[in-house]
Amino acid sequence: MKIAVIGAGIIGITTAYELACSGHAVTLLERRGAAAEEASFANGGVLAPGYLAMGAAPGMPTQVIGRGFSRQATLQMGLPVSAGKLAWLWKWHRADQPDTCLRNRVQLQRLAFYSRQRLNQVSADLKLEFEGSQGHLMLLRSEKESKLLQAGLQRLRDAGVAFKEIDPSQARKIETALNPDTPFFGAIHFPDDAVGNCRQFALLLKNEAQRMGVKFMFNTNVTQVLSSSPIALAIAGESTASEFDAVVLCAGLDSARLLAPLGLRIALAAIHGYSVSATIRESLNAPRSLVTDQHYQVCISRLGKRVRVTGGAELGGSPEKKSAKALATLYQVLRDWFPGAAKLSGGVQEWKGARPMLPDGLPIVAASGVAGLWLNLGHGANGWALSCGSARVLADLINGKTPDLDVSGLGLNRPSA
Ligand SMILES: Cc1cc2nc3c(=O)[nH]c(=O)nc-3n(C[C@H](O)[C@H](O)[C@H](O)COP(=O)(O)OP(=O)(O)OC[C@H]3O[C@@H](n4cnc5c(N)ncnc54)[C@H](O)[C@@H]3O)c2cc1C
Repeated sequence: MKIAVIGAGIIGITTAYELACSGHAVTLLERRGAAAEEASFANGGVLAPGYLAMGAAPGMPTQVIGRGFSRQATLQMGLPVSAGKLAWLWKWHRADQPDTCLRNRVQLQRLAFYSRQRLNQVSADLKLEFEGSQGHLMLLRSEKESKLLQAGLQRLRDAGVAFKEIDPSQARKIETALNPDTPFFGAIHFPDDAVGNCRQFALLLKNEAQRMGVKFMFNTNVTQVLSSSPIALAIAGESTASEFDAVVLCAGLDSARLLAPLGLRIALAAIHGYSVSATIRESLNAPRSLVTDQHYQVCISRLGKRVRVTGGAELGGSPEKKSAKALATLYQVLRDWFPGAAKLSGGVQEWKGARPMLPDGLPIVAASGVAGLWLNLGHGANGWALSCGSARVLADLINGKTPDLDVSGLGLNRPSA
């Protein structure tokens, strides 16, 4: 089939690759001049299926405003407060009810484990080498945090996820550079979790996809999806629409705008977060892999010769307006755990990006109901961790094959989408 993929973020690139593997003639259209320039640019790199199953997500609080146990770890509301934001929060709150929440976590966990398997397979098949490291130490500053996690840990035990609750001295043997002056209650070690450089992987996979025949059209802005027969795309600056046998929408945040004229409304919100990336000054003082601070909901990732600190969650707001307080929290958490690890005097990359998030935290990986239009979007705080699995599943659906994973809960018509 002749298939168009809209968007060259991690979701669009993995989708284009999987479709090419299935023998389709794929064209990827991207409004930017390069791949992975938006949400997939400098994310935390966390690949932690177990962590997700606990209801956590990289740098994202699990608490709705006002219900958090710490101010730093609650979702902040970007101004202005609009009816749309309040409606999104209401849906988020509803999806947070015990039964719904548990069902969603199981779904997320399954997709994350499947995705990890597919990521490892693709990386091995193509011999892709990207920055990353293995292992995850979740630091708990207080006994209260440990107690709050117990229900989540039980779910992990039930699901057979490998982890160990350990005391500070054991934690310091795993992450030997942890600041001896910062006390903490304990830690949880996930040996199978990992971090990887999402943008680097996306660029490497883009090259492979190109070699397989995928046509990349950069600086190409899709203005409208036309529900004609066959399905077609209106492109800025072109007088005639381009026709395809199928279109896959992977346009991140912009997906909601492209769907609305087709009568498809989704509650996709921008949850902005921050990352600070700096060169490691002295390897001995740096983290070996992924360290998360449960209190601040901040991740510290080792990516090759750099350390990246990620966190913060603002509903709405703008990517240009950076919060000095949110950035200061990232620097403070890095100083708390790994003082002297990174060169912070110059060449530091401070980034603000938007997680394209649906209220229940699950993506949409499904047919749209409009003939020829497929959706792979709304991966929120976990797009990198879910990308390879979502892409494979979507390619199977397009091929008319039953995917290896039950994705019945990832459709468009669910209450919190
Ligand atoms: C601070 C932060 C930390 C994060 N940490 C992690 C993490 O540790 N682990 C993890 O798994 N996930 C993490 N995420 C989430 C992850 O980055 C996102 O879920 C993922 O990047 C989304 O990918 P995407 O391809 O859907 O969107 P994007 O990367 O935004 O790609 C969408 C693409 O579509 C293009 N596009 C949009 N509209 C059009 C149009 N009309 N025409 C043509 N092109 C168009 C855009 O230009 C863009 O390139 C984090 C996100 C943030 C913000």
